[in-house]
Amino acid sequence: MSTYSTIKRFLAGAVCPRCEAADAIVVYSREERDFRECVECGFVDEMHFAPQAREPDTRISDQTIKADDEQVVKIVSLPSGRPR
Ligand SMILES: [Zn+2]
Repeated sequence: MSTYSTIKRFLAGAVCPRCEAADAIVVYSREERDFRECVECGFVDEMHFAPQAREPDTRISDQTIKADDEQVVKIVSLPSGRPR
């Protein structure tokens, strides 16, 4: 399972480990894997998360959408026909 959307979004406060550019890191998911990429130098790295990093399926929360992100991305994969 991937943590991020396939849509690239900026990771606020992240610093590129290669060129040390601030706020230049985008995160995205490809084929169930999570990557981070620097838009300045093209650095790409696969990210690994602990299995429990993903929220339990029993509780739908919108708190994972951070309002202070540089680029707000609308999450369109809302569950359908599901009681809150
Ligand atoms: Zn970089």
